[in-house]
Amino acid sequence: INGWIEVICGSMFSGKTEELIRRLKRAKLAKQHVEIFKPGIDKRYHEENIVSHNNNAIRSTPVDFAGDILLLALDSDVVGIDEAQFFDDGIVDVVEKLARSGKRVILAGLDMDFKGRPFGPMPQLMAMAEFVTKVHAVCMQCGGVANFSYRSVASDEKVLLGETDSYEARCRTCFNDGMKSK
Ligand code: ADP
Ligand code: MG
Repeated sequence: INGWIEVICGSMFSGKTEELIRRLKRAKLAKQHVEIFKPGIDKRYHEENIVSHNNNAIRSTPVDFAGDILLLALDSDVVGIDEAQFFDDGIVDVVEKLARSGKRVILAGLDMDFKGRPFGPMPQLMAMAEFVTKVHAVCMQCGGVANFSYRSVASDEKVLLGETDSYEARCRTCFNDGMKSK
């Protein structure tokens, strides 16, 4: 058996969750045993489900520590993880172990925070992965290719759970313009 790691990354509203759900649903259709996890802190839309901004949903298990995933994923062929950037660094070792034990691991997460800095364990996960897919949103200012999540409210917290009320997908130019005028 041969396991591997796939990472889906990009800004907010770029379609990461949509793409994750698409891949997981296809695996289910192929009779693969699929287990899906998200960090316990992310309960914006639903206690358990993973929900995309276009309202696609799939059942998941919220976990507080990355280490919890190992046991819960024991019987699975495919492991899906959303909002991977919110997990502790233990996620790196967990994902490595899952792949080494023959599982297909699919992670979705923000590659950059609202300041454009690498987000949590994502750089390491992207480096380890066999496959990295970067998806993009549409810049809310100019319609360009949005690579950044611009925070439109005044807060300096690294983690500020929010939506269109507090974040906006922006291209490089519009992101930098916004940061300059802060
Ligand atoms: P992510 O998980 O990356 O935040 P989702 O998969 O949850 O993204 O949502 C993607 C959906 O978000 C798109 O299909 C679209 O319906 C919606 N959306 C809202 N704002 C934008 C935007 N600025 N650019 C692209 N899609 C957007
Ligand atoms: Mg998402």
